[in-house]
Amino acid sequence: TTQAEKHGFQTEVKQLLQLMIHSLYSNKEIFLRELVSNASDAADKLRFKALENDALLETDADLHVRVSVNKDANTITISDNGIGMTRDEVMTNLGTIAKSGTKEFISQLSGDQSKDSRLIGQFGVGFYSAFIVADNVTVRTRAAGADKAHGVEWKSAGDGEFTVADIEKTARGTDIILHLKDEAKEFADEWKLRQIINTYSDHLSIPVQMYKEPTPESEGPDGETVPATPGEWETINSGQALWTRDKSEISDDEYKEFYKTVAHDFDEPLLWSHNKVEGKHEYTSLLYVPKRAPWDLWNRDSQKGIKLYVQRVFIMDDAEQFMPTYLRFVKGLIDSNDLPLNVSREILQDNRISRSMRSASTKKVLSMLSKLAKNEPEEYAQFWDNFGQVLKEGPAEDQGNVEKIASLLRFASSHGDSAEQRVSLDDYIARMADNQDKIYYIVADSYAAAKNNPALEIFRKKGIEVLLLSDRIDEWLMSHLHDYNEKSFQSVTRGDLDLGDMDDEASKKAHEETEKAFEGTVERFTKALGEQVKSVRVTHRLTDSPACIVTDENDMSTQMAKLMEAAGQ
Ligand code: ADP
Ligand code: MG
Repeated sequence: TTQAEKHGFQTEVKQLLQLMIHSLYSNKEIFLRELVSNASDAADKLRFKALENDALLETDADLHVRVSVNKDANTITISDNGIGMTRDEVMTNLGTIAKSGTKEFISQLSGDQSKDSRLIGQFGVGFYSAFIVADNVTVRTRAAGADKAHGVEWKSAGDGEFTVADIEKTARGTDIILHLKDEAKEFADEWKLRQIINTYSDHLSIPVQMYKEPTPESEGPDGETVPATPGEWETINSGQALWTRDKSEISDDEYKEFYKTVAHDFDEPLLWSHNKVEGKHEYTSLLYVPKRAPWDLWNRDSQKGIKLYVQRVFIMDDAEQFMPTYLRFVKGLIDSNDLPLNVSREILQDNRISRSMRSASTKKVLSMLSKLAKNEPEEYAQFWDNFGQVLKEGPAEDQGNVEKIASLLRFASSHGDSAEQRVSLDDYIARMADNQDKIYYIVADSYAAAKNNPALEIFRKKGIEVLLLSDRIDEWLMSHLHDYNEKSFQSVTRGDLDLGDMDDEASKKAHEETEKAFEGTVERFTKALGEQVKSVRVTHRLTDSPACIVTDENDMSTQMAKLMEAAGQ
């Protein structure tokens, strides 16, 4: 061992450690899920790398995770023979947080324990969760392919600093040794650990083992001889990847626990869909919709979501090719039988197989949401409040599924009296007047502004419903929605509003007369406003207000103009 080198944690790590220890106080046992899942990831990574270079497996191809307890020393050790880490990797992985947006995330934390624990749960506490139960953590690791002299030892008390030293380590992989805090001594207990592993890690495909002590030869109840058993490492999880099992054999609880591991979420999922697809392409997908929006939903770049496996071998995280951006909240995995094991992100980008899996998975998610909307409207409303804004990106991104996405949209409307977005286009159409052929809407800065816009007066008078849109994205959405169910969309603040057949003869005549009567006024207005406006017209839309501003059919709407201005255009 060389002299240990002292380093400080990145500021964000220090802050996260403080907040985490404080807010995950009542969720202590998740440290084991995180550390075992890291060990399992390490095995997955090694298996993948060994496809190209099987020398990496050395003489130790039997990948596993071992958990052991030393009651006297008050320690737990989680040991794997996976990919291991080099010194540089140790420095980055266990000294910094690589996730983009971490600073913003931390600044959102409030100090309110229950609220923060939910947020931190979604952020994914990972390795640092060791410090929930440990006052000292030692990591001893050696990277696959490195010489045994190039082991690394990392130590920290979680108080802002860590040390790194070179060590000799014969066995490939990583040992994590936790020295338990007084208030976490309960975890120095074999049975307790077994129970936790069964709950959280049963579905992992890697064997998770604990040591079974040898028993000496003994005498049975009927005087027979019970043979001695040797001490051995016993596999305590079922060791079969959950998604490879038959749907009918998987309980809801198992699906839920599995979700928590793939999604790094404390909460249960809202819904899921597990599909074995046979035929032209063979693959299995397991797709989840979370209950709540993740901390980085608005970061379009950080698309954590779908893990890719090929023939049960883990290939990559965040395979963005399998889900469109507007469904980036979907978590889960795809396990393909057809893709080559050496598939890369570049290959996936332009690949018939991945395109077909993407399109089928997209449809799956949309139909799973349709079902929810139909059968559990209240849960759907909750989904909408969390993810509706993201779904609204859909029509622009996915022309092929516009109709389906449109049926999932929810709006506030002049029919009700609430800013909540609960009205579907089908609801709207069902309430349309017999001779109405358009879906009327308005986009404004706020619900109140939409609701009180003078352009709505004529609609109120005629009893025609208007959708009230006021989210930032709505203008963008409406510029990509042209019709739904053969009804076209019509902004009530645009152009010459033609209420078509809905105006009766008498009122048409009255309109003409008014226009004549005001010819002179219009002329004076036009002169006075000059270049500032395109034209001045007599309108029949207003019943109570004297005037309103509209845009031409083909011009940018006022709302879009504001958006462009905000974007610096
Ligand atoms: P995540 O697993 O989400 O990447 P973690 O905080 O759990 O985040 O782990 C950080 C990183 O540390 C991992 O991405 C991995 O590179 C490394 N790491 C942690 N545990 C192990 C391990 N047992 N073997 C190899 N690398 C590990
Ligand atoms: Mg992890």
